Amino acid sequence: MAAFDILITGGTVVDGTGRPAFRADLAVKGKKIAALGDLHDAVAERVIDATGKVVSPGFIDTHAHSDGALLADPQHANGLRQGITTEVLDQDGLSYAPLKPADYRMYRWYLSGLLGLPPEDLDMSSMSAFLANYHRKVSINVVALVPHGCVRVSTVGMKDAPLKGATLKKAEALVREGMEQGAKGFATGMSYYPNAYSDTAELIALNKVVAELGGVYVTHLRNHHTERGFGGGGVAEALEIGRRSGVKVHFSHYRTSAHNAGKIPEIMADIDQAKREGVDITLECYPYPVGSSFPLSYFHGDFHEGGPVEILKRLKDRKQRAGYIKQIEEMNQESGLAENSWTFIGVDKWKSLEGMYFRDVAAERGVSIAEMICDVIRDTELKCGFRGAPPQSSRLWRMVEQDVMSLVARPDYMIGSDAIPLGSICHPRAYGTFPRVVGRLRRRHGYKLEQVVQRVTQNPAERFQLKGRGVLKKGNFADIVVFDADEITDLSTFEDPRVHPVGIPFVIVNGRVAVDHERCTGVMAGEAL
Ligand SMILES: [Zn+2]
Repeated sequence: MAAFDILITGGTVVDGTGRPAFRADLAVKGKKIAALGDLHDAVAERVIDATGKVVSPGFIDTHAHSDGALLADPQHANGLRQGITTEVLDQDGLSYAPLKPADYRMYRWYLSGLLGLPPEDLDMSSMSAFLANYHRKVSINVVALVPHGCVRVSTVGMKDAPLKGATLKKAEALVREGMEQGAKGFATGMSYYPNAYSDTAELIALNKVVAELGGVYVTHLRNHHTERGFGGGGVAEALEIGRRSGVKVHFSHYRTSAHNAGKIPEIMADIDQAKREGVDITLECYPYPVGSSFPLSYFHGDFHEGGPVEILKRLKDRKQRAGYIKQIEEMNQESGLAENSWTFIGVDKWKSLEGMYFRDVAAERGVSIAEMICDVIRDTELKCGFRGAPPQSSRLWRMVEQDVMSLVARPDYMIGSDAIPLGSICHPRAYGTFPRVVGRLRRRHGYKLEQVVQRVTQNPAERFQLKGRGVLKKGNFADIVVFDADEITDLSTFEDPRVHPVGIPFVIVNGRVAVDHERCTGVMAGEAL
């Protein structure tokens, strides 16, 4: 028989389609799956014994903030070791292209608390240039969406100005160009800037282009400038955009949290109604009860205008600073912020704040929490990020997890980690999301492996049009994970997040062994899809 490059023998294949697992060997030749079945006579350069283990397609993360982290650290062990072979970038519309060099430097700095600091001299002038920065240079595959933030920076800048007339035309052209150069859709985040300066009409106009080209509209729902959003922003606005533009809508990190745990029918009612009317909708979530972000999201409106240089001036101006402190206090309850903690501090002098509660940093400095947030942004020159605190009640935490698994049982759901792999005490989702869902929570809540695997493989591959991925079959790309169904689990916790999972001995990306016996091999076979 023909000699293959890799032969995976004796495993149980969960092929990604959701059909029952079956016993088969799998052979890889080049980048592709060359054979699947009884291959006991076959010879190969490398044989992986998968006896007692599951062989499945590589996991696809539909929401990762690795745009900067991958460029700074292409090995990307935190994602790869989870069995992730593809990540969808440009989430919340926050990324780096298309931007002219000066705009890239400005927006890179503005986003540094969320995306870190990739090299300053990269070409980000187009979606092609963006994708080329990753292609065959990083360990996993990447998928791009045209990011709303960059479209706005490239047209009206970091300004509270509407896109209309010539600027809207230019923005539409940028969306079109980005998609023609490989983006699979368009992404926005309406708690972030300059995205939130938009109104619903702008988003409908831009999404008409996306719809025409068959792409997906990926949305983090509006909670800033809600008066500009149809129906006050949120779900109503996203559905209206779907109805009026005809675009396929994908909801980012949509699930219950501690305050509405157990109320899935309530959060899904309007979405299911829109689906019955014919709006094409998919959704994603991550399996933790709280999130993570950067503190610029606490500020509203004109604070963001002009970017980092102007923001720092504002924070150093006594009078303006007082106004922003009031704004944060009005928008957030002090008690709600108290147990948030700093995850990432990008300046050595203040590194010790990583892992500290907001209330403790504020107490140490003898200021209010809102004042402390302003001071830390100023002291770190925007290079800071934070995360929420999980509920004290384990019962509440478990209820949110049960909700996550019930949502993932829906055929329109997938998993997006929302990973922000920055800082010593990051949110555990950056290291644990996929093994937590596929292992720990699947076992705890009694879901079928085939179904859970389908949600993280075929489902996202179909939604984001990743041809030849997401299903194990002859001729498809060899993005493969070998894991132990009983052992696979996350070890990353809120207390000790930067710990890799267990039970995932092998990961193959485009036919190359990227994780070998739970060790990263250094192979950079990731492609821009
Ligand atoms: Zn996000």
